[in-house]
Parts: sequence; structure tokens; C-alpha cells
Amino acid sequence: MDTYLVGGAVRDELLGIPVKDRDWVVVGASPEDMLAQGYRQVGADFPVFLHPQTNEEYALARTERKQGHGYHGFVVYSAPDVTLEEDLRRRDLTINAMARDADNQLVDPFNGHQDLTDRWLRHVSPAFAEDPLRILRTARFAARFAPKGFRVADETMALMRQMVADGEVNHLVPERVWQEVQRALQEQAPTVFFEVLQACNALAVLIPELDESRLATALAALRCISAKADATDTRLAALLSPLPARQAEHRAQAMKAPNECQQLVRLTTRCREQLGTLPADTGACAEDLLQLLELTDAWRKPERFDRLIGVLGCVVERRQAPILEQLQQAANTTAQVNARELMAQGHKGKALGQAIRQERLRRIQALLPTH
Ligand code: ATP
Ligand code: MG
Repeated sequence: MDTYLVGGAVRDELLGIPVKDRDWVVVGASPEDMLAQGYRQVGADFPVFLHPQTNEEYALARTERKQGHGYHGFVVYSAPDVTLEEDLRRRDLTINAMARDADNQLVDPFNGHQDLTDRWLRHVSPAFAEDPLRILRTARFAARFAPKGFRVADETMALMRQMVADGEVNHLVPERVWQEVQRALQEQAPTVFFEVLQACNALAVLIPELDESRLATALAALRCISAKADATDTRLAALLSPLPARQAEHRAQAMKAPNECQQLVRLTTRCREQLGTLPADTGACAEDLLQLLELTDAWRKPERFDRLIGVLGCVVERRQAPILEQLQQAANTTAQVNARELMAQGHKGKALGQAIRQERLRRIQALLPTH
């Protein structure tokens, strides 16, 4: 049996960037051979094993054929006679379809090295069309490697457009889409992910609210926040910020984004709408600021509030920037309101709540210029 290093590790080493995890392909072995050598099988019906010492993944060479739609329709064929080249052919992009043998020689039947040098993301074979997740993966690699000059090959873009037109993207379940979106939001140039999805018309299926009238604004906000913060919730909130609050909330929920993401999306769009109603000349009064702090639960969730202010800084109109500054100061000064002191003064129950609010309001008023 022969063992080859494959996929991302080969690609990243050629790019001169750190290799995160190493995947291996084993040719000429059966599951029994692997078990006899101490490997542990990962899935019951998938020929993937973990090395007894390194815990790295060793997959038996396999081919995959599509039957039906979505991700369930794959028939996996794995046997000792499946060749390395056959295994590489089922992979998504040529730069991901290279291998290294035991002598460290590059095995590259699909010219991945040339594409890597020329900075092309190109599909390996027409079988790419069998799995719509590959559209999202390609967009994600574009987001990761755009800063290095990579772009999607024309023929691959054409194939992805065809897949979208054939309705393939409709079959992706939200969980898988979110997994890719969440990873894409963590990449170096997350805006490129959405640009590629837009270019192949997949965005209209996945996030239809981000139509042409909103996409540029959304991507500007995402670009801005990506330069400042890497938390997923801030980046998603920036992306969905141009949407009406209800639509944004609905989309985040439909995407099955985690709760903390959904909440920041909600607060961002609500605050943006709220700020939009303030008079342009006088700006916010103390009561406006206090209501915004109440809406955002700034006192109990100070870290989320900081992330929110960061996102809003990328979202609101320039003329509203001073209000964000005031809001931050209002949060700071009201954070020191001491409920225990007010209780000691004899306030309790509903009256205590009112006293706390009065004290917060008084402190915010003290910040604002008097007219
Ligand atoms: P990363 O650095 O993100 O881990 P990677 O290239 O290692 O990138 P993995 O998701 O770890 O990506 O997958 C390992 C390899 O398996 C890929 O390089 C690719 O060859 C292949 N692969 C993974 N998912 C698919 C897919 N949906 N379709 C085709 N090939 C895939
Ligand atoms: Mg990997």
C-alpha cells in the first residue's frame, strides 16, 4: 500500500504558508489492512481512518458518483484498485488536487501547480457540478486567497452559473451553508466570498435580500468592520446592516446563525433605524441615548455593546458618528450608577427601577452640551 499527502497541506506548503492539518490518501489497502495496522475507523460507512499516533486523517482512495440532489446522493466507491489519480479527480479545485508521495515528489495530474503559480481557482473536472457545496468552497477559497491574487477561472465561473441555473443551490441545507458562511466571514477578504456568490447568481438564492440596491453598502460595511474586528457576529451584522430590521432578523434566523450572531444583527439594524429617526440638527437628547442603551442592554452586556458600537461605526452615516461617541460615553457614565446606594436611600421595588433610570438620565444629561 502507498500513502500520499493530499489537499490543503500540499497546496499551502507550495504557497509558503503554514500548514494547519495534514490529510492523507492510502492506495492499495482495504479497511481490514488499516485496522490490522492499528488505525481507527472514523465513520461507520466511510473509508476514513485516524493514525494511531498522530491522529491525522487517512482516507482510502475513493471515487464518488452522484445520484439525486443535495449532499446525500453520493455513492462512494472505495477498493484497493482505486488509483490516486481517480481519487484526485473527485476533488473540487486543481490547487486542492495535488499529492506528495513518500519520496516527497509532487503528483499533479490536473496541473494544480501551474494554476497555483498563475493564481487560478479552477475546477478539476465536470464532476464539480455534482456538489453545490463546491460553489461555496470556491467562493471561500477566493476570499482566503484574493489577497495573494487568486481569482475564479472563467470556465469555473461559467460552470457555477450553470449549476445555479439548474437549481442545485436550492438543495443545500442551511446548516451546511452557515458552516461555509461562518468560515468565509473569518477569511482575509470576506467580501470576496459574497462577490463570487453574486457573480454566479448564488447570492440571490442564499441571501436574496442582498440585492443590487444593497450589496455595495453591505460589502462596504463588511470591509470596514473586517479591518477592525474578527468576531463572526460583528461581520455578519455589518453584512446584513442595510436590511430593514425585520428582514435582517429573519435572514439571520433562516441561516441558522448562532444566537449571539442573531442578536447582534437585530441590535445593529434596530439601532441603525433608531438613529435614522433622530433630528439631523440637534442629534440625540438624553432620553434618546438612554433608550438606545436600554434597547441594547448595555449594562448587562458590556462586551456585546462594544462590538455593537464597532459595527455601527461602519454602518451609520457620517453625520451620526458624533452620536455614537455620545452613546459610548453615556454607557460609561451610566455603568457607575449604583443600585445598592439607591436602595440604601430607601428606594425599593418599582420605585427603585425609576430611581435608577432617573439617575442614569441625569448623568447622561450632564454629558450633553446645554442649550
Ligand atoms: P483548509 O485549509 O480550509 O482545511 P483544505 O483544502 O484542506 O482547506 P478541507 O475541507 O480540509 O480543505 O478538505 C480537504 C481536501 O478534500 C480538499 O483540499 C479537497 O481536495 C477535498 N474536498 C473537501 N471537500 C470537498 C468537496 N465538497 N468536493 C470536492 N473535494 C473536496
Ligand atoms: Mg484541511
